[in-house]
Amino acid sequence: MKTPPFKPETLAAQALGWIDESTRAVTPPIHVSSTYLRDPDNLYRSGRMYARADHPAFDQAEALIAALEQGKEAMLFASGMAAATPVFQALSPGDHVLAPKVMYWSLRNWLLQFGAQWGLKVELVEMTDPAAVQAAIRPGQTKLVWVETPANPLWTLTDIAATAAIAHAAGARLAVDSTTASPVITQPLALGADIVMHSATKYLGGHSDLLAGVLVTREDDDFWQRLRALRINHGGTLGAFESYLLLRGLRTLFLRVRQANASAQHIALHFDGHPHVAQVLYPGLPGFPGHEIAKRQMKGGFGAMLSIRARGGEAAAITTAAEVQLWKRATSLGGTESLIEHRSSVEGPSSPVPPDLLRLSVGIEDAEDLIADLEQALARAQR
Ligand code: PLP
Repeated sequence: MKTPPFKPETLAAQALGWIDESTRAVTPPIHVSSTYLRDPDNLYRSGRMYARADHPAFDQAEALIAALEQGKEAMLFASGMAAATPVFQALSPGDHVLAPKVMYWSLRNWLLQFGAQWGLKVELVEMTDPAAVQAAIRPGQTKLVWVETPANPLWTLTDIAATAAIAHAAGARLAVDSTTASPVITQPLALGADIVMHSATKYLGGHSDLLAGVLVTREDDDFWQRLRALRINHGGTLGAFESYLLLRGLRTLFLRVRQANASAQHIALHFDGHPHVAQVLYPGLPGFPGHEIAKRQMKGGFGAMLSIRARGGEAAAITTAAEVQLWKRATSLGGTESLIEHRSSVEGPSSPVPPDLLRLSVGIEDAEDLIADLEQALARAQR
């Protein structure tokens, strides 16, 4: 899209306004070729050689996500995990890494295991507390600070700008898993982060029908080139059909996320103080720790993820999840349909998640329907 600095909503709706020059199609074709013709003089003037390195199906989605995140470049991967893990694999044995105690549990488990094998010194800190980060960081030795905000599944908030300042003063990069916020409500690069990561399986794709991940960088530097080499060599590239689905989903990102955010805020307020609910965890609640940070770095909504703690403990939480009719009892988040999950059954005893917690991913259904269904399930769980 040329000239005016269009708003992100406009960029997303038209997927940057690209057209396919050969056909004038407004939707890109799905290229399926894994390999490209070499010129007779032995050069690859097309810039394409082999689909593990790069693929035309990535171009538009990568350019759009980079624009939405105000980044220099984006790189698609086969899943969120396939995007996140190279950020650590690009480090060297002996490097010190700070990661949050509360974060996506699979990545935390992988990091503790891989970190030990690879010789990384991984330290889990209270990332929500800048003083704790400052105390743990080792100038010259800490090479990466990994932040997730709001963090799964307690939705704790980390101040990206404050943490970036601490990381940079010590010579470390700051990477942010911004899956839960999405680019609709937070742009971590503008707040000082160096790398942003999304599980594009969630809000970016938005329809629970693909696995994808993405990294976005502020600079095209050596670290970014190492990440590019890791994608090529480890082969965690996205398929052409998934790239198409992702681009299709991105066009409605703002509508979906805003609707889900509004419903989540409504649901959180409804169940806050409810007799069957011991606590509602949601960044948009005025009393929630980190609400002031959320107000600063989340624009136009506080996300569509919340958790509730059942007053009757673990048994009541599991029964509530069993009794819902409309909410889907399933893992993941960011789809059009609302999901409910008893997280400690998934994460096990090593996790900081209390056993009475139900994680809610709010979709785009009518909020009153979602509330009524949860009301009847909570009531049944009290019997
Ligand atoms: N980061 C967060 C915050 C997530 O919720 C998830 C998946 O649930 C991931 C990363 C991993 O993404 P994927 O499942 O696409 O590999």
